[in-house]
Amino acid sequence: MRVKCIMCDKIESIDDQLPSAKKLRNRPIHTYMCEACRARIAEKTEQRIRTGQFFVYRSGKEKEWLS
Ligand SMILES: [Zn+2]
Repeated sequence: MRVKCIMCDKIESIDDQLPSAKKLRNRPIHTYMCEACRARIAEKTEQRIRTGQFFVYRSGKEKEWLS
């Protein structure tokens, strides 16, 4: 399936059999992030943990651990 990164609008193709593809299909809002953005977010999250302020907001309502 084709997915669009929510951060940089990059279009990528992912294997339909991947768990992440199944997860995306089951969601009304697609929250796909490409590897580059994921790495960037992870880095920012780590910086926030170090400063003692740790908040992750995605798609308004969902709160998830970024891995
Ligand atoms: Zn991206």
